[in-house]
Order: sequence, then structure tokens, then C-alpha cells
Amino acid sequence: MQRVLVLDKNKNTLMPCHSARARQMLTRGKAAVFRQYPFTIILKERDGGDVQPVTIKVDPGSKTTGIAIVVDFKAGKRVIWAGKLTYRGQQIRDRLLSRRQIRRGRRSRKTRYRAPRFLNRCRAEGWLAPSLQSRVENTLTWVERLRRWSPVNSLSMELVRFDTQLMENAEISGVEYQQGELAGYEVREYLLEKWGRQCAYCHATDRPLEIEHIAPKSRGGSNRVSNLTVACHKCNQHKGSQTATEFGHPNIQQQAKKPLKDAAAVNATRWALWRRMDALGLPLEVGTGGRTKFNRAKQHYPKAHWIDAACVGESGGRVTISPNHAPLQMKATGHQSRQMCRVDKYGFPRTSPKQGRIHYGFQTGDMVKALVTKGVKRG
Ligand SMILES: [Zn+2]
Repeated sequence: MQRVLVLDKNKNTLMPCHSARARQMLTRGKAAVFRQYPFTIILKERDGGDVQPVTIKVDPGSKTTGIAIVVDFKAGKRVIWAGKLTYRGQQIRDRLLSRRQIRRGRRSRKTRYRAPRFLNRCRAEGWLAPSLQSRVENTLTWVERLRRWSPVNSLSMELVRFDTQLMENAEISGVEYQQGELAGYEVREYLLEKWGRQCAYCHATDRPLEIEHIAPKSRGGSNRVSNLTVACHKCNQHKGSQTATEFGHPNIQQQAKKPLKDAAAVNATRWALWRRMDALGLPLEVGTGGRTKFNRAKQHYPKAHWIDAACVGESGGRVTISPNHAPLQMKATGHQSRQMCRVDKYGFPRTSPKQGRIHYGFQTGDMVKALVTKGVKRG
């Protein structure tokens, strides 16, 4: 059950409470609504109170990020708040692309334009593409918000897809993937990354992939990661006891020998997020994608970003999630446009220069209650 965030009269954080209790306090006039999203109430008389350890857990994804707030419960954790944050990466990319095309068009057409800059540019260290940077910022914004309204004292996030330590540099020492169930999940994630999440033989991406031995076990093939690939069920069956070369794919045997370079740097966005989260100064637990999947599968939870967030890391091994928990849906919309005025399709100014962001005391994204007295939208 999604809990309600609670503040005391001095806007200090208190433990989130059950929605029924919040309703009771609101109707009795002991509390007021502080914020609609996420629903937060402020108590009128209470000053301070006991708080338990609260952790914000994050599972950063490419399109959406799951966020979960957990507290200690029995021997494990319990999810008391969850949310799904959708980014606007594609939108940013599209807008920058159109800007670039308009500028380029103006330059080639002898119209007024700004001279191209070329020597005065350098990218700062740790630079990320704007669409990726926005993911980091959006996630961090929500972590900071939740920190303001709930008594958070630790953080947890999924950092890497797989733990190369656990696999003991799988490619080199040739650890067997049956070594342990958790190691199996790590190996699977590693292979999916290495083979681009597609069947190595037919390049299908839309079906479940199986771990496949390049030189079959029946003919002495090892369980080393360098002898493994991912294949769809059909190709796996079809290949049977042939080697990849006999099956008509000699390149795969070659590709398998090359280890995935610098597995940790696979996802720059996650590392950027990790640096920013670490700078918040709270204890930060990190987990791998393999472990998250392992924890979720072991507890028979369905796949959802916020459930993954709750299952991140060691503390995700025992989490209680109520079956009808409805997470908050959040969507990044951006603040405003930096463009001075809109242009037509030829790149000429179409509108007057833009005005301030606030009109009659309102700005984009405000929730209002309107009483319309005339027209078709009357009511
Ligand atoms: Zn296939």
C-alpha cells in the first residue's frame, strides 16, 4: 500500500503513514495537504517524532527508472512507497536534432545566421549527451525530493549489470556457471550484454534467449563463459550437438574468445548517477543487475521497474510488497524552452520573442480547479 508522506509543523520529516490514518487526520483538521504529488500532509500540532531507518532504492533504466522507499520489516524490508519515473530522452534528442538542422539550413542559404563555432568548444570530463544527462538529473531530482519529505537515511541503487568479481573474471579463470544460483544470474546478464541481447545465430531479439554452448557439452565443450553464447530456443534446438562452425557460424567461435571490454563502463549514465548519489552524503548501497533479477525471481515478484528497485542489492533479498501496491507514475516534462522564438519550417522567426514562464501567476504543470461559467467547457 502506497503510504502518505508526513511532515511535522516545522516541515521536518516524520514516518510515512497509512492512507486511512492520513484521511482521518485530514477530516479532523489535525493535518493539511502539503503537496498533491507525491501526496504529502503536514501536521498542524506535532513537533518531531520517532523515525525508523528509511532507504530510497533506485533501479535506473533507459526509458524509465523505478524508485522504492523501504523500511525495516520483520527480518527484511517492506516497500512503503514506490514510483515509476519516465524520462524524456527521445524528446530532447529530437529537439536538438531539429535545432541543428535549422541552423545548418540557415548557414547554407545566405540568410542571417550565427557563425559556426569550432575552436572554442571542449567537453568537460564526464560529459554525457544531453538526453543521458537529463536521466541523471531527473532521477536525482526525485531522490532529493523524497529526501525532503521522508526521513531517509540511506540510499541504494543498481550500478552495474553484472558482478565481474563474483564471476572471478569469468573469461580468464573459466569459472563454471553452475557455481551458484546467483553467479548464474550474473553470467546470464554478462552474456546478454556481450552478445547484444539477441540470438547469436539468427539475431532475433523478440524471444526469450537461452544460454548455449558453442562447443557442445556432449562433445567436451566447457562451461567457461568463453564457450557460452545466447541463442533462441529454435536455434539452440536446431544446432543440437554441432559446434558453431559446423552450424555455419565460424565467426561466433572467434567472437566468443574476446572478452567484453571493461564491463563496468558499459553504462556511463549509471556511473554518473552513482557519483551524484554518493555526493549526497548518505550511506549508499550498490547492487548488480544479476542480483536484482535473482532477488526478484527468488521471491516470485512480477517484473516492474519499481519492484526491481525494491529488490536491488543485498537488502533486496527479503522484501515485502503488497500485491495491490499502486506506484506513483511520474513523467519528466522539462522546464521550458531555451529557444528565443518559434521558427517556421524555413528557419525564420514565426512568433514574437518568448515571454516569461509565469502567466497570471500560473505556469506549465500547475494543477488548477477551474469553474468555467460559459462556453462549451461550461461546468
Ligand atoms: Zn535464433
